[in-house]
Amino acid sequence: MTDIQSKKNFSAGDVIMRQGDEGDCAYIIEEGLVEISISRPNGDVRVVGTRGPGAIIGEMAIVDDAPRTATVVAIEDCRMLEISKEDFSRRLGTADPVIRMISQVILTRYRDTLTRADISGEKPYWPPVEMIELGYTEQGNAMERIRIANEFEKALHSGEILLHYQPIINLQNGRIEGFEALMRWIHPEKGFISPGIFIPVIEDSGLIVEASKWALKESCLALKRIESKTGYHSGLHMSVNFSSTDFSSEDFVENVYNTLSESDVAPEQLHLEITERLLISQPENAKETLNMCRKAGMGIAIDDFGTGYSSLSYLHYFPINTLKIDQSFIRDMSSNDSSRELVKSVVALGKNMDMSIVAEGVEDIEEAKFLKEIGCDLAQGYYFAKPMSEKDVTDFVANWKSADI
Ligand code: C2E
Ligand code: CA
Ligand code: CA
Repeated sequence: MTDIQSKKNFSAGDVIMRQGDEGDCAYIIEEGLVEISISRPNGDVRVVGTRGPGAIIGEMAIVDDAPRTATVVAIEDCRMLEISKEDFSRRLGTADPVIRMISQVILTRYRDTLTRADISGEKPYWPPVEMIELGYTEQGNAMERIRIANEFEKALHSGEILLHYQPIINLQNGRIEGFEALMRWIHPEKGFISPGIFIPVIEDSGLIVEASKWALKESCLALKRIESKTGYHSGLHMSVNFSSTDFSSEDFVENVYNTLSESDVAPEQLHLEITERLLISQPENAKETLNMCRKAGMGIAIDDFGTGYSSLSYLHYFPINTLKIDQSFIRDMSSNDSSRELVKSVVALGKNMDMSIVAEGVEDIEEAKFLKEIGCDLAQGYYFAKPMSEKDVTDFVANWKSADI
């Protein structure tokens, strides 16, 4: 038992929890008996059962912030073990990846059920009927996800995981500014597996932390090799994607520093790419980590800018120096006035705040020309180059003259 869990005693007749109240813990009954009742909107009170030693009560509170869905009264003197929400999250966070993944699927399904019941106006009591009815396809996905997570761990060590590098071009002077490192999985039987599929799975299972460390190290070493083979010494940078789980890892900053010094890459050459979602979900944690990285000279880029969060106030709060405009806005620019205006506004906003702007997903010359005209500094997209193997990107850099825009 850890110190976060504690024992609680209740006497016969005590109300342990009341329907509608806030709750932040669940209980395991060690000794005694309780009665569970639900009051209906019309005032009727229905006893739905009793629970004895070994049963868990009030578990919704540690899964969700929803109020208590039932009233529980001790009908004998009871001894309980209290499990707080923090204890539960901490245990889940440190569990084996497969256990975490299964729990996550169950919890998501649990939340879905509650949301659905909320929408239909009916609060279910465990076990909700909807939960039993919930799709088997989801279960299929869960199995697939567990398989992917298991196989990824091996793949990372057996060379099936690679990085491709996509050049980022300076629209104003036509030079290559740097690259974004993008993960690839070449599976021996299934062939290419998209990062859109495996990244969310390894994020959920916690494997992303090891994968990101690998990607950071590998891409820094590759940057050095590209520089030395091509002689293109203009302070090329490497953009590496990170997820919120990476930021929760205690040795994140230390690992970044170590990797930079081992690979002899200057901090200014490393750009950390993160999404708005990450910043909003863990603001305090992210701020401290990002401040340390930014102070050391690294760049901090907001990925998929414009898709996540409606308020811009966070831009002042975090040490951000680059915005990457999401490719959906670039794609829509030619057909949609409001996308064009949004891109213009983001470029102007970036200039005002002394930030660099990268347009993602630039696929044709018209887009590149328009972006250059409105003062956008940097662009990345198939028009210039697709993500490529280290060998191909080295050739690309060696043969690069200047962007023709
Ligand atoms: P992202 O970070 O937004 O990466 C840009 C994506 O846009 C890449 O997809 C890239 O191949 C694609 N792209 C680039 N130019 C164009 C273009 O002109 N047109 C179109 N249609 N697409 C373009 P990719 O490589 O499939 O990666 C998908 C996502 O997976 C990434 O989106 C990123 O969120 C995630 N990801 C990839 N590698 C890593 C990684 O090492 N770590 C983490 N945490 N996430 C990664
Ligand atoms: Ca990115
Ligand atoms: Ca992006």
